[in-house]
Amino acid sequence: MARVWLGVIEHFKEILPITEKTPVITMYEGNTPLIKAENLEFKIKKEYNVKLNIYLKYEGANPTGSFKDRGMTVAISKAKEENAKVVICASTGNTSASAAAYASKANIRCIVLIPKGAIALGKLSQAVMHGAEVFAVEGNFDEALKLAKEISTKYPVTLVNSLNPHRIEGQKTASFEIIEQLGFVPDYQFMPVGNAGNITAYWKGYKEFYEGKLPSLKVKRDKLPKMMGFQAEGAAPIVRGKPIKNPKTIATAIRIGNPASWEFAEEARDESKGVIDTVKDKEILNAYYLLSSLEGVFVEPASAASVAGLLKYVKIGYFEKKQNVNVVCILTGHGLKDPDCAITTAKKYVKIKTIKPDIKSIVKQLNLS
Ligand SMILES: *Cc1c(COP(=O)(O)O)cnc(C)c1O
Repeated sequence: MARVWLGVIEHFKEILPITEKTPVITMYEGNTPLIKAENLEFKIKKEYNVKLNIYLKYEGANPTGSFKDRGMTVAISKAKEENAKVVICASTGNTSASAAAYASKANIRCIVLIPKGAIALGKLSQAVMHGAEVFAVEGNFDEALKLAKEISTKYPVTLVNSLNPHRIEGQKTASFEIIEQLGFVPDYQFMPVGNAGNITAYWKGYKEFYEGKLPSLKVKRDKLPKMMGFQAEGAAPIVRGKPIKNPKTIATAIRIGNPASWEFAEEARDESKGVIDTVKDKEILNAYYLLSSLEGVFVEPASAASVAGLLKYVKIGYFEKKQNVNVVCILTGHGLKDPDCAITTAKKYVKIKTIKPDIKSIVKQLNLS
C-alpha cells in the first residue's frame, strides 16, 4: 500500500530537532512535485545546442503556496513546545502567509511586519485571512526585520524569520526530498536568493546527506551539487559586495538589500564551486512566462529567477563542455501569489479578442482547419 504523506516532520524527523515532546503542527507540507521540464530542455537544445536534464522543484505546491511552509512547520512546532504565546516575523509576503497559517493552527498569536506597499496582494490577504496582526512599516524589508528582531529580544515573542535555526532545519528537507525523488544527487541547483535562508538550508541538507545522514535513503553519496544562486539586478547585495539601500525589482520576494544569511550563502557558493549572480527583471519576466506557457507551471516572479539564471548560463556558454548534466531549478512560490504581475504580464503577451456570441464568428478567428 502507498505510504500516506504526513508532512516534513513525520517524514524527516530523524534529521530534525524533534523529540517525543514536540507537538507537531503540520499541514502536510513537502512532498512537492519534481517535474521534468521536457519542453524547456527541447528549446534549449534547439536554440543553443546544449543538452540538459532539467527538473523543476515546484514548491508552490506547498499548503500556503511557498517553500516557507517547510521551515514554518518546524519553527512553529518548536515554538509551541517552548510554550510561546506570540510569534513575529518581518516578511516580503510568503513568510507572513506561512507563519500566520501555522500559528493559527497552533493557537499562537502572530504579528507580521511588512514593508509598506511592497508586498504582493495575494500574500498580504493570506496573512490577514489567517488572523495575523499585520503592520505596514514605513520602510523596506531590512528595516522591518530589524524591528522584528529587536521586539523578539526585548519581549516574550518568538522570531520566526529564517534567522530562527528551526526554519533552516525544516527547509533543508527539500534537498533530501529532491535526492529521494531523483534517485541521485543533481549536478546543479539553480535558485533565487533573497534573504539567503533557503540557499543556506539547501546546502546544509546536501552536505548532511553527503556525510551520511538519513541512512535509510539508499542513494549513492558520491557528490554535491553546485549551488547557483540568483539575485535580481536591482537587489543584488551579495553580487555587489555591499548592502543595497533601496533594493528594486519586480520580484518582491527577493527585494532584499541586506540578507540575514549573507555569509552562509557565500559559503554555499564557495564550498560548492557554484555562483551567485544577477538576473535582470526582464529576464525574470521572460522565464516567468516561459514556465507557465511552456511547462504549465505557474510561479511567482521571484521563483522564475532560477530559470532566468539557468537560461543566462546556457547563453553565456557555461554548459558547453558539460552536456547531459542534471539540473534542478527551485520554483519557490505559486503564481497566484502575485495576481497583479500575472495580469500585467498576460496583457503584455496576449490581447483577448471580443467576439459575437455565435459559432461562425468564433470559428472564423480560430483557424482550425
Ligand atoms: C522567501 C522567498 C524567496 C527567497 O528566499 P530566501 O530564503 O529569502 O533567500 C524566493 N522566492 C520566494 C517565492 C520566496 O517566498
